[in-house]
Amino acid sequence: SVFEYAPAPESRSVVDIAPSYGLFIDGEFAEAADGKVFKTVSPSTEEVLSEVAQAGEADVERAVKAARKAFEKWSALPGSERAKYLFRIARIIQERSRELAVLETLDNGKPIKETRDADLPLVAAHFFYYAGWADKLDHAGFGANPRPLGVAGQVIPWNFPLLMLAWKIAPALATGNTVVLKPAETTPLSALFFADICRQAGLPRGVVNILPGYGDAGAALVAHPDVNKVAFTGSTAVGKEIARTVAGTRKKLTLELGGKGANIVFDDAPIDQAVEGIVTGIFFNQGQVCCAGSRLLVQESVQDELLDSLKRRLSTLRLGDPLDKNTDIGAINSAEQLARITALTERGEAEGAERWSPACELPSSGYWFAPTLFTNVTQAHTIARDEIFGPVLSVLTFRTPDEAVAKANNTQYGLSAGIWTEKGSRILAVASKLRAGVIWSNTFNKFDPTSPFGGYKESGFGREGGRHGLEAYLDV
Ligand code: NAD
Repeated sequence: SVFEYAPAPESRSVVDIAPSYGLFIDGEFAEAADGKVFKTVSPSTEEVLSEVAQAGEADVERAVKAARKAFEKWSALPGSERAKYLFRIARIIQERSRELAVLETLDNGKPIKETRDADLPLVAAHFFYYAGWADKLDHAGFGANPRPLGVAGQVIPWNFPLLMLAWKIAPALATGNTVVLKPAETTPLSALFFADICRQAGLPRGVVNILPGYGDAGAALVAHPDVNKVAFTGSTAVGKEIARTVAGTRKKLTLELGGKGANIVFDDAPIDQAVEGIVTGIFFNQGQVCCAGSRLLVQESVQDELLDSLKRRLSTLRLGDPLDKNTDIGAINSAEQLARITALTERGEAEGAERWSPACELPSSGYWFAPTLFTNVTQAHTIARDEIFGPVLSVLTFRTPDEAVAKANNTQYGLSAGIWTEKGSRILAVASKLRAGVIWSNTFNKFDPTSPFGGYKESGFGREGGRHGLEAYLDV
């Protein structure tokens, strides 16, 4: 059968979802060796968008072989030549960002406002940023002649499909590695569109290979003996499994896992600004964000004022069609994720926390969950400890800065935190005691390719972004 792929660059006004897509191996779209396909579904309507070839072990073998072969030439190119390809890819992403934003919204369920204004600009920014590094590696303190590792096996989740791809692929290529990437099973389409962009940019065959499929393909990829570097973003459970697979091999590993970020609001914080930050912190991308501010820690004396304001604000959020540019809350990515969120919130109620949601009608088809607040939450509650990965905020209180720090750190995770206060000295004092890889103050969920991102504790290890993101792909 013939596998089609993303539309030609001339057809910019419409996103034509092809009925079927292939794997991308050695510069060509191809069927899976065993002919298997799976369906990708729109989370907001449950309509089937496309059939996609499903990679198995034999396809992993083919893709790693192609990447290994390409590595010889790609790694021998001067950095300035690799930079040209990366700049070209970055520009094509900008040119086609409207199509990409629509495609991502269709496949993932997140509001177009977010894909258009947050995901896509950041994706392009990552490629521009790492393009700029490609010819400067010799002079950046990595020692003389830093070497690429070889073939990178990369496995990514569904919450930011294209952005996670950019975080993984841009630094790998800039440093001279080649890539086999497995997107998540519920969101393969933008990665395949990206494959088309690689062709459009004239990227040599085999430098980037994309294998849509399930966990078994991811497991085969990370276990493959000819993969030199493994990069994973996803659940802590799978991350630990991958760490066990990689243990005892020479592969380098970076893991970006879950989180239970604390957003700490002190009594001197500008309340309106804090409310906006709390909303961004937990309702951006329906809370399906590893660094979400999913625990609100509010100083007791301002709790009532803050919660009144927050509830009024939540009542103005619009939930519905993700392609409508006025939509604030889109669909949950999958039926499985919706079931997980539902189970954890039921547990919250059963354990005695108080549940509140604004009046809001959920569409009759698709996967939807109303923005939800839990008050009367204690540290012992499951919803204060486990990552919900949905639009659900657990509210706890504190009296002193020390108590805030102790509660914020009382988690197995250590990915993100937020501090809201007028006092600069307090920001510095509290931040220095928080065990979290990224700490925002008087803002939340701000990203920039120049900043390293990554976790402490069970949130993983290694950093992506910035100069630190290059280290993961180099032998120094
Ligand atoms: P997951 O970890 O199961 O999936 C992430 C990626 O890993 C997917 O591409 C998947 O196909 C692949 N995968 C699954 N099993 C694998 C294996 N054994 N070896 C190699 N690759 C494998 O995550 P999920 O099921 O999509 O979501 C479950 C939970 O994970 C969520 O509720 C959330 O808590 C968390 N999560 C975190 C992030 C994050 O950014 N840190 C992203 C998505 C999900």
